Amino acid sequence: MSSGSDVVHVAFVPSAGLGHLSPCLRVAALFLRHQNCHVTLITPKPTVSLAESHLISRFCSSFPGQVTQTDLHLLPFDPSTENSSDPFWLHFERIRRSVHLLIPILSSLSPPLNALIYDVSLISPMIPVSESLAVPSYIYFIAAARMFSFFSHLSVLDAANKQAQGHPASFIGDAVEIPGIRLPITRSSIPPLLLQPGSLFEKIFMEDSPKLTKLDGIFINTFDEVEAEAMAALNSGKVVPGLPPTHALGPLMPCEFEKEQKEEKSASSPLKWLDGQPEGSVVYICFGNRTATTREQVKEMAEGLLQSGYRFLWVVKLKMVDKEDDEDLEQVLEPEVVKKIKEKGLVVKTWVNQGEILGHSSVGGFLSHGGWNSTMESIWHGVPLLTWGQNGDQKITSEVVAECGVGVRPDWGWGGEVVVKAEEIAKAVKEMMNNIEPLKLKALQLKEAARKATAVGGSCDIKIKTIIEGWKKKRDVH
Ligand code: UDP
Repeated sequence: MSSGSDVVHVAFVPSAGLGHLSPCLRVAALFLRHQNCHVTLITPKPTVSLAESHLISRFCSSFPGQVTQTDLHLLPFDPSTENSSDPFWLHFERIRRSVHLLIPILSSLSPPLNALIYDVSLISPMIPVSESLAVPSYIYFIAAARMFSFFSHLSVLDAANKQAQGHPASFIGDAVEIPGIRLPITRSSIPPLLLQPGSLFEKIFMEDSPKLTKLDGIFINTFDEVEAEAMAALNSGKVVPGLPPTHALGPLMPCEFEKEQKEEKSASSPLKWLDGQPEGSVVYICFGNRTATTREQVKEMAEGLLQSGYRFLWVVKLKMVDKEDDEDLEQVLEPEVVKKIKEKGLVVKTWVNQGEILGHSSVGGFLSHGGWNSTMESIWHGVPLLTWGQNGDQKITSEVVAECGVGVRPDWGWGGEVVVKAEEIAKAVKEMMNNIEPLKLKALQLKEAARKATAVGGSCDIKIKTIIEGWKKKRDVH
């Protein structure tokens, strides 16, 4: 590590799952563009998925001398003490219960830390860590600014409805009106687990929302052309009085370190297959790194994609955690359906490099679960979306997508709760692919704006420089 008072040292603490780890590493990469910035990456061990451990190794080896990896060995945890069966949420809780162990680790770092940047799921237990170290505390938020407005405004609603005893199911009516944001968030778009009294999801949200005012800043993977209204509302103090500055750092770009060497266009790779397809002709389907699709839905999806008549590249996940996903599609679908699929598309059951797929000229549309990272990656590459919220914040994401005109949002229920029929899927895919003129035009406009915002010297770069300078000044004063 370079020495001297010019070095800025930042520790990043990610949480479980790719949807949380990727944005963490991408934000870290933005800081690492600045030569005198050194990053200590805290890696909670063990990780839930294989994809996470692979990505961490690639990240650390991509910045030799600029990144130090420090393991956080998680304390033993009995999952039956929490009301959740979701391995990722249980892992959030396990990390929350272990982060106090970071105090001696972080206080002995040299040079001393200028800032701590951690995952949104770690707010309450990380605040005492940063207070004890006397370093500024930031979170990176992994969803849309619209979702962040809702998350932060929850504490205001809670305080105004004491008789509801902290249960959003009781104090949220048909819709939530957020000051400064035109479109209310309807109850049907709210993460279902937040409306389940006593769930781990509810517990973490309600504990952390009122603590946001204790932070020094919030980083969000968004940009003005997509969410100007929500960003303005957040920074005007209308959503929550006293909220610290909210910085739009998006879209967080897919980085070099995310590429897997072995993916280099082997004969069976999705990229090789895409090379053989006409421009803009392929629908790409992927529901992120942790959403399993039911067998019944997989069958309808297969029929629907075939009925749409479009070529497709489909990433299928039958289990939530990749280590357990060992079933072949042949065990789920009839042989003649598998045969027809092979004529029209490619089905993949392994991890793909989504960034490279979305950047391929053959891809004309993306049927997504509405994961925020996936959405921003699609926008980064100028690919129109069809979003079908499966869980969590994904319906709120779908609203942002439809609102900014880059995609369509069918009025389907939450994935997993309903089985959407093949005809409906075919109709929605055709709507996205046929509607290509206005959607594509908007997607291309946003792609251009995204590149301007993230270029060296662009708005995001200037923001990071200003933040780094602020940290240096603060250190000089002390
Ligand atoms: N992803 C990928 N390959 C896959 C599945 C997912 O690269 O086979 C990446 C995707 O590019 C995105 C992240 O995993 O960066 C998923 O995050 P998102 O917020 O979209 O959804 P989540 O998985 O958290 O539901």
